[in-house]
Amino acid sequence: MAKYVFVTGGVVSGLGKGITASSIALLLKSRGYKVFMQKFDPYFNVDPGTMNPIQHGEVYVTYDGCETDLDLGHYERFIDEELNYSSNITSGKIYSNVIEKERRGEYLGSTVQMVPHITNEIKNKVFEAGISSGADIVITEIGGTVGDIESQPFIEALRQIQYELGTNDTFFIHCTLIPLLFGSDELKTKPTQNSVKDLRNMGITPNALVCRLPYKMDDKMRGKISLFCSVPKENIIDSVDVDNIYQIPINYYEQHIDEIILKQFGLPVKKADLKYWNDLIDTVNNLNGEVSIALVGKYIELHDAYLSVHEALIHAGYVYNKKVKVVWIDSESLEKGNTDLKETFKDIDGILVPGGFGSRGIEGKIVAINYARINNIPFLGICLGMQLAVIEFARNVCGIRDANSTEFAPTTKNPIIDLMADQKSIINMGGTLRLGNYECKIERGTLAYKDYKQTTILERHRHRYEFNNKYRELLEEKGMVFSGINEKANLVEIIELPNHKHFIACQFHPEFKSRPTKAHPLFMSFIKSSISNKK
Ligand code: GLN
Repeated sequence: MAKYVFVTGGVVSGLGKGITASSIALLLKSRGYKVFMQKFDPYFNVDPGTMNPIQHGEVYVTYDGCETDLDLGHYERFIDEELNYSSNITSGKIYSNVIEKERRGEYLGSTVQMVPHITNEIKNKVFEAGISSGADIVITEIGGTVGDIESQPFIEALRQIQYELGTNDTFFIHCTLIPLLFGSDELKTKPTQNSVKDLRNMGITPNALVCRLPYKMDDKMRGKISLFCSVPKENIIDSVDVDNIYQIPINYYEQHIDEIILKQFGLPVKKADLKYWNDLIDTVNNLNGEVSIALVGKYIELHDAYLSVHEALIHAGYVYNKKVKVVWIDSESLEKGNTDLKETFKDIDGILVPGGFGSRGIEGKIVAINYARINNIPFLGICLGMQLAVIEFARNVCGIRDANSTEFAPTTKNPIIDLMADQKSIINMGGTLRLGNYECKIERGTLAYKDYKQTTILERHRHRYEFNNKYRELLEEKGMVFSGINEKANLVEIIELPNHKHFIACQFHPEFKSRPTKAHPLFMSFIKSSISNKK
């Protein structure tokens, strides 16, 4: 049976709970344990798929097609394990399951209530994750902060789990903030004490605290927190601000958090293998030189909206010991017609157009793609970025002036990008995109083949529209190569332009599979070409 670690947070949001959970999972994995991770999000959307990225950041997609919170991306990047549908549970999912069961008559006449029906549903999700993953240890992060109305049923469910399983099978970590007061220059423990008090009011005494602070606390302060919060001194972990997030697992390792957890679980403390991770930190601390990539999007005011793309670029930079400088360009700003493109892209070595939905900013993205194509600047297009690259080519090379996608121009006479028949009948927006892993066959002798070095790949998808095969022959005649195809449904997955230095775009999202220690082939070759393009 699996053991369960729960990670809660208090005082403020944005403390880095997801990174804490991931770091602890990484340490336990490095000691030879199979780990699985899960996040509970207390909001009522069934999944974040329908949310505006400006509110929520990017939607991360698992291999089995679950649209999830961006923390899942941190988890996968840190522990390098594929997570799944059991990994992200929202209040929306929990409540709709309960209501469906009620309608099916599964509660046999009882009054359906928060406790035990909602809490049982939550508990089942925890245990299901343990069973279906076959993990030794499941790490569950609870979104939001303790004390929020929405998170109460989750905390109550965890309390029941602790009561039922006992401390040998459960471990609670609470993340808090120790602020440094300006003026008196003092670290303050009261918010931490209050937040732990809130948690204890709900019946949970944490086994460990992870305290975010600007520098390590002294022994006196640790003693005070220990006394007020009933947490042993050695279980109070400093989470000092860092420049490089990969340092965090090592900082925790030095404070033995993984050993403390394993000892409570009565599990052997095997030797940790962290060489690969220390090598990564070395690489990151010793980068030599820079490469500038323009990321042309419409949500650039919130970088989290493109988190995985950003990370994938950075990872690819590590391979060549280069810092990737991401230059955020607002696609709408390119639409005005009076932008000096030469000036905008003056110091840019490569251009990336990421995924997106809706018509805002697309003409600006097309301007950027056109600029990359004509000026032989390395280009990588992702999902919407591929669709727009095809539209740009159809308009400006094939002379189809009104080429468009039916997503933005429903009545266009030249729907280069269109809905497949199976998508036309869909009414619900949530969960109905083409999601998760699909196979793609790669044509030998192409740039895609040079990058992947294999003819069959699996990549994750999240889109509704497809390239319209009616236009394939015409575009091929004019020099576009369709180098990746989903053969089962005859869908275009990768396009490229062989007469260009580096011009490639894909319908899937390669960024979700990039890891800091394992850069993605498409990003690697894009960064390599961009480096060689440096002025
Ligand atoms: N809006 C496009 C579609 O739905 C592209 C989606 C994306 O870029 N993720 O097909």
